[in-house]
Amino acid sequence: MALDSKRTDYVLPPPQPVLIPVAGSDALFPVRRIYCIGRNFAAHAVEMGHDPDREPPFFFQKNPDNILLEGQDLPYPPKTADLHFEVEMVIALGKGGANIAPDEALGHVFGYGVGLDMTRRDLQAEAKEMRRPWEIGKAFEHSAPCSALVPASEIGHPAEGDIWLAVDGERKQSGDLNQMIWKTPEMISYLSEYFVLAPGDLIFAGTPAGVGPVSKGQVMEAHVANVGTLKVAVI
Ligand code: MN
Repeated sequence: MALDSKRTDYVLPPPQPVLIPVAGSDALFPVRRIYCIGRNFAAHAVEMGHDPDREPPFFFQKNPDNILLEGQDLPYPPKTADLHFEVEMVIALGKGGANIAPDEALGHVFGYGVGLDMTRRDLQAEAKEMRRPWEIGKAFEHSAPCSALVPASEIGHPAEGDIWLAVDGERKQSGDLNQMIWKTPEMISYLSEYFVLAPGDLIFAGTPAGVGPVSKGQVMEAHVANVGTLKVAVI
């Protein structure tokens, strides 16, 4: 059933969609789901203690309302002493579907953003050890900072170029989009075999090596070539 603004008998106010600005316009992108790929850069897989060989990709999800918009500060989350940054390109889908062929996948992309897959690393490590799901380490409040989205009609589909993150001006992570083990079309195609994708879905495309902790009072600057730079202060 769809929302009907004329009805007054909702037992609670229906949740509002999360909206991300589109760069260079007044347009807004409504978020449906957030998928995140794990270990998509070999050097990051190695730093986390895993084999860099190309195994099938795996994904986890964050909640749409975990998005933190550009210009907002990130409150240091509770229950962790090890909040980590992970700079990632964000793929925003404008079209959905199931069983999308890789050579048609880019036609489903609306645009791209710069995102941070913020992680309570201590809680994630504990979950891994106990063979439990990752939500407690990954899908908490404000865990998905995301820049304004740049339409693919303006920049095309970034497949190479710098991706980096600095904390207080000091470079911590750097890589090149061409090091992504699973490329944008492959991720969309793979996900669409397991889930029905829809307009509004976001895919966080994986982080290069150099992840590490950030503390209250520090400022993260995250960059993806041709997409932009996102600055987030931890408070
Ligand atoms: Mn990540």
